[in-house]
Amino acid sequence: MIREMVAVIDFGGQYNQLIARRVRECNVYCEIHSYKTDIEEIRKLNPKGIILTGGPNSCYEEGAPTCGAELFSLGVPVLGICYGAQLMTHVLGGKVDKADFREYGRIEVSVDTASPLFSGVNEKTICWMSHNDYIAEPAPGFSISAHTEHCPVAAAENREAGLYAVQFHPEVLHTQEGRTMLRNFAYGVCGCSGDWKMDSFVEESIRTIREKVGDGKVLCALSGGVDSSVAAVLLSKAVGKNLTCVFVDHGLLRKNEGDEVEAVFGPSGDYDLHFIRVNAQERFYSRLRGATEPEEKRKIIGEEFIRVFEEEAKKIGAVDFLVQGTIYPDVVESGVGGESTVIKSHHNVGGLPDYVDFKEIIEPLRMLFKDEVREAGLELGLPPHLVFRQPFPGPGLGVRIVGEVTAEKVRMVQDADAIWREELAAAGWDKKVNQYFAALTNMRSVGVMGDERTYDYAVALRAVTTTDFMTAESAEIPWEVIGRATNRIVNEVEHVNRVLYDCTGKPPATIEFE
Ligand code: GLN
Repeated sequence: MIREMVAVIDFGGQYNQLIARRVRECNVYCEIHSYKTDIEEIRKLNPKGIILTGGPNSCYEEGAPTCGAELFSLGVPVLGICYGAQLMTHVLGGKVDKADFREYGRIEVSVDTASPLFSGVNEKTICWMSHNDYIAEPAPGFSISAHTEHCPVAAAENREAGLYAVQFHPEVLHTQEGRTMLRNFAYGVCGCSGDWKMDSFVEESIRTIREKVGDGKVLCALSGGVDSSVAAVLLSKAVGKNLTCVFVDHGLLRKNEGDEVEAVFGPSGDYDLHFIRVNAQERFYSRLRGATEPEEKRKIIGEEFIRVFEEEAKKIGAVDFLVQGTIYPDVVESGVGGESTVIKSHHNVGGLPDYVDFKEIIEPLRMLFKDEVREAGLELGLPPHLVFRQPFPGPGLGVRIVGEVTAEKVRMVQDADAIWREELAAAGWDKKVNQYFAALTNMRSVGVMGDERTYDYAVALRAVTTTDFMTAESAEIPWEVIGRATNRIVNEVEHVNRVLYDCTGKPPATIEFE
């Protein structure tokens, strides 16, 4: 696949994935590489442009992450952001020092609109700043193209050499015209034409997978989540019946979800593949009997999942390829791509099965961010309800039932959750909150129904707004909507006599209950 790309060189800043996402939003493919990457490797990537990220260090200190001066004479334009700007200055002979004023937050920047980077940008524009060091003197050959009240060099450039340094963070949305600046860099400075489009990605992927797989056999664990669904459809379009999808119904899915997955991928669905549904509900319930500790429950569900999958795989026999729904943030966070220190296993189903006989792994979504996976899904004709599915934990309802899981409790939480979702959707609130569900508390309390005493369970309703799922606020759902849902739940769901609304944000709570 030959396409234009911009390489992000990662110096350990917190917004580095954002840089790549923003560039891709301009239809230019972008990849993150560690600053330790050899210059020859970078050259081989044949980038149209290079972006140096921010980072926590001071570039003039010994042992700080650095780069060679050759990086700036590859004949490829370079944009340095914050630490990257300081490093570019430092390496090319300018002066970087500790600032008297630490700038943090939204700051007004005055820019020279004659700069190719600031073309179409307002002369005074709000930018996001976060730095202790500053560029005291730009490197030789550079001119100053922006400043703030306290920062004499908010941007500098050597136009002839194609080198640009900005002290602020154009990738952060608080920088009001950051998108324009990144677009200016990619198109105006680097000369990209914008060939990163989901339709061509999908087409190319199908073609390359087909070439790679030939008439080999492919196995895929389908969870019904967005990533595994999109991966499965890509494979199905590429190799048809040579793909076998195993869908393990662990009995901890939302109401009717198992049937919905089967409707899309099963024999009466739209796709050409071999579909196996394993109804393992009873198995999971019996393994979970007596388990009350959240971590223990998670472990049981994860292990059992792999075991069921392995048993199915054994029946199929040796396969050539195993599909994984790994996506780009997993790649970066596992330390392969960038400079991130977070090490996280990136397997969808909680580990690779040990006993599945396969030669190679295929990760068709390895290059994509989550929003791009969704776009690819739509491109492939997956129904929107599947593509825009809310985040759902791997252990499913197992972690939305506080305490011991039983078939009866699963029924309660499924029914209550379905009602909550229906009522929120009917009131138009499903579009205004980011995640919403019902959980079953482990609390039973006294109630009265039809003059008779009850001693039944309490359902907790949850709805949160969040942009990144790292922090969240409890949504202010109108009482009217909560009231309607409450009424229906206590009337329609047997053994529930109380409904609570969770007003807690994250932190101190989490979005899920366990
Ligand atoms: N550590 C450098 C400074 O404090 C760069 C900060 C950054 O990249 N956000 O100025």
